[in-house]
Amino acid sequence: MTIDQSLVAKITAEVIARVQESKSDTAGNSGIFATIEEAVKAARTAYNQLKKLSIAQREELIQAMRQVARDHAEELAEMAVTESGMGRVADKIIKHRLVADKTPGTEGLRTEAWTGDRGLTLLEMGPYGVIGSITPTTNPCATVLCNAIGMIAAGNAVVFSPHPTAKNTSLLTIKLLNEAIIKAGGPANLLTAVAEPSLKATNAMMSHPGINMLVATGGPGVVKAVMSSGKKAIGAGAGNPPAVVDETADIEKAARDIIAGCSFDNNLPCIAEKEVIVVGCVADKLMSYMQRYGAYLISGQDIDRLAKVILTEKEELAASGCTEKPKRSYAVNKKFVGKDAKYILSQIGINVPDSVKVVICEAAADHPFVLEELMMPVLPVVQVKDIDAAIELAVKVEHGNRHTAIMHSKNVDNLTRLAKAIETTIFVKNAPSFAGIGVGGEGFTTFTIAGPTGEGLTSARSFTRQRRCVLVDGFSIV
Ligand code: NAD
Repeated sequence: MTIDQSLVAKITAEVIARVQESKSDTAGNSGIFATIEEAVKAARTAYNQLKKLSIAQREELIQAMRQVARDHAEELAEMAVTESGMGRVADKIIKHRLVADKTPGTEGLRTEAWTGDRGLTLLEMGPYGVIGSITPTTNPCATVLCNAIGMIAAGNAVVFSPHPTAKNTSLLTIKLLNEAIIKAGGPANLLTAVAEPSLKATNAMMSHPGINMLVATGGPGVVKAVMSSGKKAIGAGAGNPPAVVDETADIEKAARDIIAGCSFDNNLPCIAEKEVIVVGCVADKLMSYMQRYGAYLISGQDIDRLAKVILTEKEELAASGCTEKPKRSYAVNKKFVGKDAKYILSQIGINVPDSVKVVICEAAADHPFVLEELMMPVLPVVQVKDIDAAIELAVKVEHGNRHTAIMHSKNVDNLTRLAKAIETTIFVKNAPSFAGIGVGGEGFTTFTIAGPTGEGLTSARSFTRQRRCVLVDGFSIV
């Protein structure tokens, strides 16, 4: 999809004006407040009002929120790419439509019951209250839209802490959702945030006594922060998904699927293929098909030059002092996260057509491209001698995140062995990674995948607390 830059600039100027307008909204219905104190207080009032609505009325709010995701899919996608400088508009539009159609609503809240000689006992899923939801820059609108639907479906209000680099996009999404909720008969300020999101504001939100539950969607720092908060926390953290290819796979399809998954939104999704591990005898064929489907192969010094651009190197002295050799470690240069392959290659003097979607290179198993979560369309390919070595390496480079893994194979035993060994929340077989969140695969979607705390693919039921209600000696009819 080509984007007219002047149109993007015009739309962005308009939406920023609308966000500014909402910041000075004295009626206080936009959900945007000056302080965390006000944001939490307004969300608490909204929560108490939501409790008075029936589940059917709550579902009407959810339908209205889905419509926001549909109606503003393009506008929010363009704004997110312009503001954050990351990702691809066409793919973000797909994400917004996916959230609208496949995020579970109130239907996911199921009551359990026990009946018998001593009567009836119910186990119902009730809301937590006011949830603090911290959202990433990589999926600013999709995460807000998806969490808002699931959290409100469960009966909660939400105080969002968006990433400051996607501030305007996130705040506009919140404002649009609030407007739709009010129009559908719901309370004002069911979703709130502060006008100037910052780490300080997030910390104030996390420690505020009015926040009942925390949900962090982001890297290891924020997941650790919510898990150390002393509150009920859901942590949806980083991944480094390997795509394993064995000699039984349909190699052409594997290549096509890997490029599709890796290049989706310029590799921003936490589930996207971050490295390929291929059994040696089919490696050349795989890489040749990858080039047919939009990859550009670099080798030799070009790999070193690219590493100097997209990584920053740190030398850490060993804890025992200066006598030992400094340990090297690498960090991803954030300037290149979510950028187009064409732009990344241009930094090392290689000019390619727009059809190039991914940069591939052969790499050793311990290369930083393999070990770091790059979040850009640069895909290292590691050759191994057999499936045993492939499984061992995939487990190692996934770093115990237990997030996502992908495998291309027709051997059920091999597929099962990797799935068991790697213990990821999502395991995709013979498809692009995005099939794992419902794009071209069965099942609901989410943009908060909670590996560290174990909720898995979150939905309304993840944002509930269980409550038991017991009636003795009655209401059992058998
Ligand atoms: P990030 O961790 O830099 O930021 C995420 C959010 O946390 C932001 O709102 C940020 O302001 C806040 N934050 C960061 N460190 C914090 C701290 N110490 N205390 C309090 N708040 C803090 O991540 P990002 O660059 O926005 O997003 C990319 C990362 O998120 C990747 O690692 C990706 O894998 C992960 N991610 C995971 C999921 C999932 O569902 N598991 C979804 C999207 C992104």
